Amino acid sequence: MEQTSTSDPATFVSAMRLIRRRRKYFFFTVICYMPAMWLANKISPTFSSMATTFGIWVVILFITALYSALARCPRCGNYFHMHGMSLLYLRHCLHCQLHITDDKAI
Ligand SMILES: [Zn+2]
Repeated sequence: MEQTSTSDPATFVSAMRLIRRRRKYFFFTVICYMPAMWLANKISPTFSSMATTFGIWVVILFITALYSALARCPRCGNYFHMHGMSLLYLRHCLHCQLHITDDKAI
């Protein structure tokens, strides 16, 4: 994925879709925390099973956060959610301010 220009609308749209899809995975994992812990507590209310569930959740969270952090902005070519060491899930690019839904205007 070395495409950084907006000259090809199809590439631009697919890159924006990729960013949105990876964001969805990340937010879905965050939302799943409470149901997962509740379910683990219902199935086996011991400390070790809760700790195991929490550990698995953290691993999935780390993977989805990394996956979404490495999505590149199709307009400026930088990481969409990452600026230096800061990872922010805003609705626009941290470098060029491209909005997450800007491809829908094309
Ligand atoms: Zn950008």
